[in-house]
Amino acid sequence: MEYEPVIGLEVHAQLLTRSKIFCGCSTSFGEEPNSQACPVCTGQPGSLPVINRKAVEFAIKLGLATNSRIAPYSVFARKNYFYPDLPKGYQISMYEYPLAEHGFIEITVQGEKKRIGIIRIHMEEDAGKLKHGETPETAPFSYVDFNRTGVPLVEIVSGPDIRSPHEAGEYLRRLRTILQYLEVCTGDMEKGTFRCDANVSVRPKGQTELGTRTELKNMNSFRHVEKALEYEIKRQIGALKDGEKVVQETRLWDTDQNITVSMRGKEEAHDYRYFPDPDLVPLRIDGKWIEEIRKGLPELPDQKKERFIQDYKIPEYDAEILTSTKTMANYFEDCVRVFSEPKTVSNWMMGDLLRELKRDEREIDQCPVTPKHLAEMLNMLKDGTISGKIAKDVFEEMYRTGEPPSGIVKEKGWIQILDMEEIERVVEKVIQANPKLVEDYQKGKEKVFGFLVGEAMKETKGKANPKLVNELLKKKLKGEG
Ligand code: ADP
Ligand code: MG
Ligand code: ZN
Repeated sequence: MEYEPVIGLEVHAQLLTRSKIFCGCSTSFGEEPNSQACPVCTGQPGSLPVINRKAVEFAIKLGLATNSRIAPYSVFARKNYFYPDLPKGYQISMYEYPLAEHGFIEITVQGEKKRIGIIRIHMEEDAGKLKHGETPETAPFSYVDFNRTGVPLVEIVSGPDIRSPHEAGEYLRRLRTILQYLEVCTGDMEKGTFRCDANVSVRPKGQTELGTRTELKNMNSFRHVEKALEYEIKRQIGALKDGEKVVQETRLWDTDQNITVSMRGKEEAHDYRYFPDPDLVPLRIDGKWIEEIRKGLPELPDQKKERFIQDYKIPEYDAEILTSTKTMANYFEDCVRVFSEPKTVSNWMMGDLLRELKRDEREIDQCPVTPKHLAEMLNMLKDGTISGKIAKDVFEEMYRTGEPPSGIVKEKGWIQILDMEEIERVVEKVIQANPKLVEDYQKGKEKVFGFLVGEAMKETKGKANPKLVNELLKKKLKGEG
């Protein structure tokens, strides 16, 4: 029997507000432990939460950008459980009345567009952080840092519409790109500002009913999510084939062993005793405010991509990559403003530039080559100041030093040789040095021509204009020069 995986993802994204969701404490990261905690976020008796308007605005932005319906009425609810990093004994979240519902995100799978449904988006507060002692004195203890307690989160719950680990990766990348375009979340999985729990089940192909799912946690990169899903799908299919049942449970991804291990039985919603938080009034969101926010939305990835295809006449593939982050799209447009051949810019960015960045694990905003410098270099290439081969070297040098191309070319003496007399001298030298090959060529063995051109280019350390070398060499070999 053939099995089909079914995946639904729950993403928690930290909103980039300056203060916490229900109090005025700063959300700034990496501060002295417990230096940013007050009676509200540590749940002291008598303290009362007040909703942060900016956090609601950010969540609405996300709702609109994911084609969701913003609820005119939503309610904060208490999710009750005990954990040392949760001082109140409950987390303020949403349950029956989430902030937004019925959205979708479009992803591209093997060239085809596919919609992944978003069941709901709700707002909630983050928990604190536990730190376990590592030195001989601290080892017996665990410590709680409440700085993160009350940092605003949105939880985005996808429909069970994802059919492979690869699709899960695409969905996550797209969602993250949207959050980054909106500037409401940094989207950093390693730092935990963008976290994902993955629900996965398998079912016989053709069956409409969903199988029993497990929930996977503890993946802190896209790669881990995909690997954990791949492992888990194989594990579940194996179990079913052996006549066993899949147990509904929460499993942890073990990064060292590359396996998932059972953590606990899956808790059900009723275990949490959800009820509306009596300290907070329901959120009534004015339609006018929603429209205002909608008008203020920035250009989103899909729109930018379409515009790039239209305005710059670049292939969809290029547009997809160039708009995958806002900084990359800006880099491209800054460059095209100075050098107006978009496809050439795109080729250099997707080739040399991204290769170097990837090798150094750098983001484009850390790229030593500025868009202006790249554009200047392309202008020099176009007007013949440098050859194509030298351009590659100039690029490498720009990347290494951050210097402008003009300075590099001058310092290294890389100006292209366009002087006919000098090229003639070099071509003559190559002909004299290779009488055998010249004879071969004249007997009709045309292949050796390329070699002779190469020799001439080598002689000038790549500085000769290859077109001129070609023309002159051909003339000379035919006895016309
Ligand atoms: P809970 O709050 O208990 O985690 P939800 O109903 O909110 O449950 O669903 C959480 C996620 O699990 C959603 O993304 C949903 O698409 C996904 N999901 C639900 N059932 C299945 C299933 N049988 N197989 C795979 N994913 C599922
Ligand atoms: Mg869940
Ligand atoms: Zn506080």
